[in-house]
Amino acid sequence: MNNFCVFCKIIQKEIPANIVYETEQIISFLDILPINKGHLLIIPKRHSIRIRELTLEESGEIFKAARKIIPSMEKILKIEGTNFHLSDGKIAGQEIEHVHLHLIPRYPQDGQALGFTRSSEKFTQTDLKAIALDLKNAL
Ligand code: ZN
Repeated sequence: MNNFCVFCKIIQKEIPANIVYETEQIISFLDILPINKGHLLIIPKRHSIRIRELTLEESGEIFKAARKIIPSMEKILKIEGTNFHLSDGKIAGQEIEHVHLHLIPRYPQDGQALGFTRSSEKFTQTDLKAIALDLKNAL
């Protein structure tokens, strides 16, 4: 619990939210500034700013909740697809300093687009192998 965190206040029910799903470890509620109808967030109940602060169990619970909620979103919102979005760190665009996974329902011709473009930097197979090996060795 962080007294200055808006998400912690939602968890404590000090700020109202449209809660969709809740377990001991996570809570899911509608985003108040939705990208699309039904856009919701899944957050861990323990105040954590970055993914690296979560336990493996907490991180698993977030994805389990997504798996649980998706069929209802598809049925009720009549959607056939969803984007998952998570900004981990300020440089990645994280605005609220409490881990949150966005589930963004996608509608035909909704005008939304992902904002990424492929790197213009070229990577050889050797480069890719070296990057993968470094990451693997750091686990
Ligand atoms: Zn918090």
